Parts: sequence; structure tokens; C-alpha cells
Amino acid sequence: MARTRLARRLHGIAPTIFSEMSALAARTGSVNLGQGFPDVDGPPEVIARAVEALGAGANQYAPGPGVPALRQAVARHQARHYGIELDPDTEVVVTTGATEGVAAALLGLLDPGDEVVLLEPSYDSYDAMVQMAGGVRRGVTLRAPDFRLDADALRAAVTPRTRLLLLNSPHNPTGTVLTRAELQVVADVALAHDLVVVTDEVYEHLVFDDHEHVPLATLPGMAKRTLTLSSAGKSWSFTGWKVGWATGPADLVGAVLAAKQWLTFTSGAPLQPAVAHALDHEPDFPRRLAADLQQRRDLLCAGLRGLGLDPRVPEGTYFALTDTAHLGWRDGLELCLALPERAGVVAVPLQGFYDDPEAGRHLVRWAFCKTTDVVTEGLARLGAADLTR
Ligand SMILES: *Cc1c(COP(=O)(O)O)cnc(C)c1O
Repeated sequence: MARTRLARRLHGIAPTIFSEMSALAARTGSVNLGQGFPDVDGPPEVIARAVEALGAGANQYAPGPGVPALRQAVARHQARHYGIELDPDTEVVVTTGATEGVAAALLGLLDPGDEVVLLEPSYDSYDAMVQMAGGVRRGVTLRAPDFRLDADALRAAVTPRTRLLLLNSPHNPTGTVLTRAELQVVADVALAHDLVVVTDEVYEHLVFDDHEHVPLATLPGMAKRTLTLSSAGKSWSFTGWKVGWATGPADLVGAVLAAKQWLTFTSGAPLQPAVAHALDHEPDFPRRLAADLQQRRDLLCAGLRGLGLDPRVPEGTYFALTDTAHLGWRDGLELCLALPERAGVVAVPLQGFYDDPEAGRHLVRWAFCKTTDVVTEGLARLGAADLTR
């Protein structure tokens, strides 16, 4: 489209790198270690429930806030795992994936010119949605090699114009799981400046070793200023269903609903009861998935190490990061564009995940939410190729 016809709110926002790299994988017949979707679906019983719902007439608009059975199941999930008590009628809203949760939260809570403090590198929809909502992004960089929260940088990023903090833990793409002490720093900043925190916890169950996911809403004083976003996509391996939810105090959930009623209004009528079934009746699926993912994480990380790409071993999520400078590539994008031809493998360059692309120019993300065979095949192809610049 002629650039002049494109609204200013979309200027400078690059097309999502995930579709670009997945298209490249499909075109070149490459092993896709780029986009973060699993290649094995979630529980068959949950799929059967969706099929049943389709046959039983769940084919018209679901209620705007979501079907009651799912809102109740989300409330039970938060109580069971975290001791968070929610009123399913006013403190839970179903969204079209966590992506719509982010969009509706920012559209519902930001005025033009408001500043949003967020962790960098950040999931790419954050940047786009802050801009579309008229907000201004202030990044706090998680830096190599250990990608921990820099408390001083966080405090320094807050100004009198800061309206909210946008958090993500377990963190995509670094694999950092914020510790209770790091979350306390976030809470202290939010309390001191009277800020709302929107926290994206889609990887809440996908943590490894002894790492523990602590929801920010469980820290003292935080429940009434925290809006928590999650989704069935990652925890139950149904990324294509786009069924997510936002939970928190009624005023924040109300702000999400106020915006989302004019975005999709509602979606996934037959999928919502099936996800309710997953939450209530497949509560152990995410834990089994995490244990299984941990093995594939170890397989991928050992393989990358063997290739001279020393990975950051992630504490959670689907992803491992490597520094491509190890092989002489100062630019990760350049390596990612060369990989399909040289090796028949696709990975994702990280520079687009930063406000300042220089901060991530040398980083590449590898997904291990793929079968053992796919990870093994990807590593074999990488091993057979010349990867040096
Ligand atoms: C995958 C992902 C999402 C998107 O969730 P959906 O439920 O598929 O919309 C949001 N945030 C992060 C950090 C993700 O990795």
C-alpha cells in the first residue's frame, strides 16, 4: 500500500517477524525452529469437547465477557495454583488470545502521550500496540549473558508521565523467569508511583528445573493494581485457538472489556467450553508438557553448544538465545537469512524485539517446542553446514 495511505499509528511498525520467517521456512522446506508453536496438539479429550460443542449448537455469539463455564474455570485455576480468589462475573474476561488481552489492556488504560515501561527485548505485539494506543515506550533492557532485571534501570525508566508497567514472565524471548526478589522490585516501583501493572503470564506453567513462576498479583499490595493475562495457547498446546483471559480487579478487567467489546466483541464460542474442560480436567497437562519441553531444551542447548553457539539456557518458555558473534556474525538477521539456504533451518533474529536494534543485533532465538525428531533433524542439518561467516 502507498505509504501515504497508511495511518500514522502504523508507521514504522515492521510486519511480524514470525510470519516472515515461517513463510521462509515453508518456501525453502526448512526445519522451522523459528515461530513458537508446538507441532503436537494438546489433549485429544479437549479437542473432542470442542467437536461436541460444535454439534451441540455453540455456533452463535458467546457472551462478550466469555462463556460463564470458562470464566469460572479460570477463577478456579487462579485459586488452585496461586491462592488468588476472583469473582468470575467481574474479575475475569475471556479474550481472543493473550494478544487481544494486550491490545485491549493498552487501548483501555492508556491515553495519548502516556508512557509504558516494559522489558526489552519484548514480544513484538507490545511495541505495535503501545504505538497504536498512542503511548510512548520506555524499555528496560535485560542484558546478556544472564538477562536479569536491572533494578536501577527500571527505577530510572519511570517518569511523571508513566502510566503503566507492562511485564512478561516467564519472559519471551530471553527465557528469564523473574524471581520473587525481582518481582518485589517491580511491585515497589508500582506502589511508589501508583502504577498499574499489566503482566503477560502465558508461559506460567512452562518453567524448568527449580524455577518457580510467581504471579505478580500475589505480592503484597499488588492484587488491586495488577491485570494478569494468560491463554490456553502455550499451556495446553492450542496456539491456533486463540482463547485467552484477563484477570484482576473489576476496574482493570472492566477497562479490558470496554475496549475488547469493540475489537472482536467475542470469539471461539465452541472452543471456550473445551478450554474450560482443559482447565478443570487436564490440570496436569501443562506440567507434563514442561517436563517434556525441558528434555528438548537440553537437547537443543547441548547441540547448539556443540556447534560453537553457546546458548543462554532458558529457565522457562519455548526458546533459547544464542550470540551469533561466536561464529563471526555480528548481525543475527544476516545469519537467519542465510540459514535456510546453507542448512535448511529457520531461526528468528532478535533485533526487532528491541527499541534500539543495536542492543540485540547479535542475538538469535531458537524454538524447542518441536518434537525430538524435529529438533534432532534441525541440529543435524546445522552440524552438516558451514555456519561461519
Ligand atoms: C505467544 C505469546 C502471546 C500470544 O498469546 P495468544 O494467546 O496466542 O494470543 C502473548 N505473549 C507472549 C509473550 C507470547 O509468547
